[in-house]
Amino acid sequence: MRGPLLKVENLTKHYPLGTGILKKTVPVVRAVEDVSFSVEAGETLCIVGESGCGKSTVARLLMRLAEPTAGRVMIDGTDIAGLKKHAVRAWRRRMQMVFQDPYSSLNPRLTAGQIITEPVENFERLSRKQRKALAAELLRKVGMSPEMMDRLPSELSGGQRQRLGIARALALQPSLIIADEAVSALDVSVQAQILNLLLDLQQQIGIAYIFISHDLSVVQHIGHRVAVMYLGRIVELAPCDALFDKPVHPYTEALIAAAPVPDPTRVRLEVPMEGEVPSPVNPPSGCAFHPRCPLAVERCRIDVPPLVPMADGRVVACHVRAPATEIPAPFFLAAH
Ligand code: ADP
Repeated sequence: MRGPLLKVENLTKHYPLGTGILKKTVPVVRAVEDVSFSVEAGETLCIVGESGCGKSTVARLLMRLAEPTAGRVMIDGTDIAGLKKHAVRAWRRRMQMVFQDPYSSLNPRLTAGQIITEPVENFERLSRKQRKALAAELLRKVGMSPEMMDRLPSELSGGQRQRLGIARALALQPSLIIADEAVSALDVSVQAQILNLLLDLQQQIGIAYIFISHDLSVVQHIGHRVAVMYLGRIVELAPCDALFDKPVHPYTEALIAAAPVPDPTRVRLEVPMEGEVPSPVNPPSGCAFHPRCPLAVERCRIDVPPLVPMADGRVVACHVRAPATEIPAPFFLAAH
């Protein structure tokens, strides 16, 4: 049986704060703490959570824009940390990134055509004719006219620039695209067009996405599975429908309750979430969510809850709703 496309095991990233010359131990920002998940070919895994919970750091670690403090990233079963130089190049073709702000991530001096063919030209020489044909093909793929290839980014709208960012990511025919807040800066109507483009591309070419967003309505539209992060850790990972229908972790419940509700017939949940996200330099003991959690018991202040598999296929880290002693049915399925 084929394994997952991407497998992440115990990924951890601590950023040292200052040099600590006069101190014995250097304080660290615990940006990502013991994160594990996998992504299947053609699947969309969303990562959600409040700002500062470590979502972008996970993306940077996957793209090797930052080195992990601990943990492994495997693509098609191969650990990318151990790859030789030429293998890194081959692996880089498999995984591409789309950023939140296409304006700052696109070179303003290059034309649209040059921007989207550049990744391919890093690998092989293209004739003028080949370059034009490739640019036209990629522009069509993202719903733009080939005539746009001579425009500069400043001559395009926000939505067109994001389409360009996607075309650029597609140029090397990757198996996985990491989209980090890729539609967050766009107007709602343009957001919907870009999301539909991503969905169409997935259907056509079977591409997998890691879709990072703080916006739950976007995630609900595009995700197959959702990982919820809080202060660097995954607290719940579940199929998208199940997560939105019946969140198990109190933090997931609070996030959904706090989100604007696109469907007015949907019942709003009533778990209040108080206070701010604590600092990842000095995270609370035990379950990091306990100071804000209405269900917290003594144990939550002491032990970090492990991710426990539930009967419906999700995993949840919560002493109260997913006690680690046995495989529990989700609390809402439990017989009373
Ligand atoms: P998110 O994408 O969920 O908003 P980030 O991954 O950007 O969160 O950040 C997680 C935490 O790591 C934050 O507290 C952030 O300030 C910190 N952080 C991110 N990058 C660095 C860095 N290069 N140096 C120090 N701290 C960082």
